[in-house]
Amino acid sequence: MVGEATPKLAFIGLGAMGYPIAGHLARRYPTLVWNRTPSKAEAHAKEFGSQPVAFAQVAQADILFTCLPTSQEVHEVAERLLPYLRPGTLWIDHTSGEPDLARRTAVRLAERGVSYLDACLSGGVAGAVQGRATVMAGGAPEDFERARPVMATYAAKIVHVGPLGSGHAVKAVNNALLAVNLWALSEGMLALVRQGVDARLALEAINASSGRSNVSENLFGQRVLSREFPNTFALGLLVKDLGICARVLEAAGTPAPMLRQVREFFEVARRELGEVDHTAVARLLERWAGVEMG
Ligand code: NDP
Repeated sequence: MVGEATPKLAFIGLGAMGYPIAGHLARRYPTLVWNRTPSKAEAHAKEFGSQPVAFAQVAQADILFTCLPTSQEVHEVAERLLPYLRPGTLWIDHTSGEPDLARRTAVRLAERGVSYLDACLSGGVAGAVQGRATVMAGGAPEDFERARPVMATYAAKIVHVGPLGSGHAVKAVNNALLAVNLWALSEGMLALVRQGVDARLALEAINASSGRSNVSENLFGQRVLSREFPNTFALGLLVKDLGICARVLEAAGTPAPMLRQVREFFEVARRELGEVDHTAVARLLERWAGVEMG
């Protein structure tokens, strides 16, 4: 296979996640970068030594990465790049996307001899910056094995979860669980605060008890009680993931009253709050309760 000793890489989408992930890659491999807003690619080159290129030039890479908002943008980028792509290229998509559309993108890429993995990321911006992300990947085993050592540059946990589309499906369910925890903890904490319990002490107790979660341990104190709500994972992106999860549930036909419901809650929150960090849904509940937790 082409250039496998030190593969040449390309990264499309230097957003909140893509920027640090591509940074880890550029420190270890020759890495071409392209971003819709070119100034981010130039800043990336200065910070990490990557090489900004014109759009079509990313097709020179042996392994090409995307980290875009939805599978729609990935599909459009793939269609635009199709004439330039070379057989033997591996496309690793780090977008949290749609299983069905990703399978359609993979079919188009296969027409050019390009293989594809839907390899979703978890761990947030902090995990990406620290090089401790989680990857859940769907696709052919040989493509996964080719990708694994490169992804190890920025991931502490890399799991091949199944065939094409299953990375996206697992990620959608994971993020629905994040949403359930976030909403439920906000409801519970509000009730406690209203009744005079100190929010930080309640959180300290919960974090040493059976109700703890990533939300309670790593998000709630740092973002909600601190009142910082730093916008690193947009509420709109989480709502998008909940829509994907709803379609995964629909396709499976299994009972899921809670996961279906949480999507409705977050859609209301998105309409009420606009473009904010996902943890700001706690603010909506505070507004309804007339109480602040922080
Ligand atoms: P951002 O909004 O920060 O970045 C999006 C990137 O996509 C930017 O580089 C943007 O370019 C580019 N982009 C948007 N639209 C287009 C387009 N039409 N054509 C080309 N490029 C485009 O998103 P995140 O980095 O937060 O998220 C990216 C993906 O990763 C999403 O699917 C998200 O759900 C997922 N994710 C996010 C996590 C997080 O904590 N933020 C955690 C795990 C997964 P430009 O700079 O020009 O705007």
